[in-house]
Amino acid sequence: MRHKHKIFRLGIGLCAGLVFASCQTVPSSSVAKSELPPKTSAPFCENDMAIIRADYKTARLNGCDVKSDSHFAFTIRPEKKTDPQGQPINDSPWYGFRVDPKQAGTMRVSLNYENGRHRYQPKISYDGINWTLLSGSEKPKKRTPREELRIKLDGRPFLISAQEAFTSAAHDAWTEEIANREHVTQSTIGQSKDGYPIKMLEVKTDASKNKPYVVWIGRQHPPEVTGALALIPFTEKVLDGSELSEKFLDYFNILIVPMVNPDGVKDGHWRFNKGGIDLNRDWGPFSQPETQAVKSAFHRFETGQDRIVFFLDFHSTWRNLLYTQADDEPTTPPMFARDWLKAVDDRLDDDVYVFTREARHNSGKPISKNYMYDTYGISAITYEVGDHTPRSAIKMSAEVFAEEMMRLLLEYEAGQ
Ligand SMILES: [Zn+2]
Repeated sequence: MRHKHKIFRLGIGLCAGLVFASCQTVPSSSVAKSELPPKTSAPFCENDMAIIRADYKTARLNGCDVKSDSHFAFTIRPEKKTDPQGQPINDSPWYGFRVDPKQAGTMRVSLNYENGRHRYQPKISYDGINWTLLSGSEKPKKRTPREELRIKLDGRPFLISAQEAFTSAAHDAWTEEIANREHVTQSTIGQSKDGYPIKMLEVKTDASKNKPYVVWIGRQHPPEVTGALALIPFTEKVLDGSELSEKFLDYFNILIVPMVNPDGVKDGHWRFNKGGIDLNRDWGPFSQPETQAVKSAFHRFETGQDRIVFFLDFHSTWRNLLYTQADDEPTTPPMFARDWLKAVDDRLDDDVYVFTREARHNSGKPISKNYMYDTYGISAITYEVGDHTPRSAIKMSAEVFAEEMMRLLLEYEAGQ
């Protein structure tokens, strides 16, 4: 991989106005729509200009100070300040609220973060499905514990959210849609702390054949919506019925756990599950119901009943990158990460999607990538998408990642 220095080039140019709007849509469903809070729900606070509501899924507001007839100061607080080891929570302040205007005008909002600094450029939606960047807002340049927003009111109610509100119901609606396809089955592999079903998709075109498995998971970290926005087109590309897809599914089965942390998503968490644990630091202890569910679903690989050949875990961070094993850590198939990412890099235009490969020795931290590599000796990769990467570029690149994965795994595993 070349050294990349143009990381956010397109992000600045395209993440504005209509271009952003046209590509930033979370999977729609009647369920997702009905998740907009009812107008009758209790106000969080109000002034002469608007009523603020925050009692819907993915919402997060922890305090409201009505400063004037047109100015609100909101407090945003993490679900927990530290993990059980006393380490500060990851600095990813999530916020989300609904505004019901009482009159037209410009509303001023101060976002005051406790234990965090501004990270996500605000998005606005009038239907909970289509999102645009809040006009006049900027991508955070310098991270501060306070952010000022000015929001134009034209009478219509709307949501403001740190990233697109990609709800648990929207995840489920998408999972259901995929499960309705030929050769795909859906199962519940466990329940979250709050009793929310954790769903898994299995793709198997011929149950009589003992094929190797390719596995991917997502949404361990609730605010990491851009990772989810990559998992979806990645999956759909693998199942798109093309010649490559058919060949791939002739030789491989697939397991997908799209949303490992439904409670965190529902409650607008910054990082943890309901038990106050970073699930991607629990692949070893497996102390939480969500990680236990995934581990038991993967039991088939431990017993040798089935063979796993590749693992991906979708996340988000400041920029596009993939954490892989180092080249001197042997994997089966050998050097898959290096070759895969080179093949993708050769195809992607640097003006559209730039990523780096961070090849690292196993840190000993109990994260999914380390666990899957240590346990199975496979290439296990954390697929990180930038917070501000244009949504059209996330989709386009995810499709290229999917195609090159299929092509190379067929070459290495099936000799095709
Ligand atoms: Zn993450």
